[in-house]
Amino acid sequence: MTFRYRRHYQGGIQAVLLDWAGTTMDFGCMAPAVVFVEVFKRRGVPITMEEARVPMGAHKRVHIRKITELDTVRRRWTEKHGRAPNDADVEAMFEEFVPLQVKCLSEYSKLIPGTLATIRTLRKRGYKIGSTTGYTTEMMKVNLADGAKQGYQPDSTVCASDVPAGRPYPYMCLQNVINLGVSPVEACVKIDDTRPGIEEGLNAGMWTIGLAISGNEIGMPLKDWKKVPAAEQARLRDAAYTRMYQSGAHYVVDSIADIMPCIDDIEARLARGERP
Ligand SMILES: [Mg+2]
Repeated sequence: MTFRYRRHYQGGIQAVLLDWAGTTMDFGCMAPAVVFVEVFKRRGVPITMEEARVPMGAHKRVHIRKITELDTVRRRWTEKHGRAPNDADVEAMFEEFVPLQVKCLSEYSKLIPGTLATIRTLRKRGYKIGSTTGYTTEMMKVNLADGAKQGYQPDSTVCASDVPAGRPYPYMCLQNVINLGVSPVEACVKIDDTRPGIEEGLNAGMWTIGLAISGNEIGMPLKDWKKVPAAEQARLRDAAYTRMYQSGAHYVVDSIADIMPCIDDIEARLARGERP
């Protein structure tokens, strides 16, 4: 045989899977960051907001462990406690983290501008809306209720605690595929403000759109971002776009308000038989 024949999916997008903090609500992805800072402060090892944000997107327990693995934090921890942080410390901090996070989630649960209009457009096209998150089921109860109050209700929500492993593993995305009854995976688009969240979508075999401004990469509430001088905004934006593209994202835009041209382009690429 001189030729082999390949199968291409040419149907359109069937589902869009969205992250929560920094993607659809909590501009700047502030809620987790402030609680990570608090939990380490209580151990006598203050950390910076930047250190708190490094592992963002992971399951919150994994996130705490990854903070303890940062060289700078490890050094300060050892100076304070005379030994390196261990699994028991991580577990104790996670237990303390959960109620603190649940308590303050509603302070940061405002929808990001453009979310409702974008969801309306996506639904008009017949796409299903799924979601994934590094929050646990208990934390998501708060966000789901706050989202619904503001008019945002995805068809499926999968938490890191619902699957064997969170990001960057693809399991939350794949559980959405099952929950939503869509197939194949290349008919899905994953949208996220963190690098592990983009990897999650890529590992699931999906198209990905990274959000550079509304989430963890800039890490500022909208009102603070608006006050940043234009030249500094441009510098921060460039750096954030570069980092998101380096995660392998197919597209990078500022926020959920800007995704529709990417969605149109993905539809065109699927129609040509391209895959993610
Ligand atoms: Mg996020």
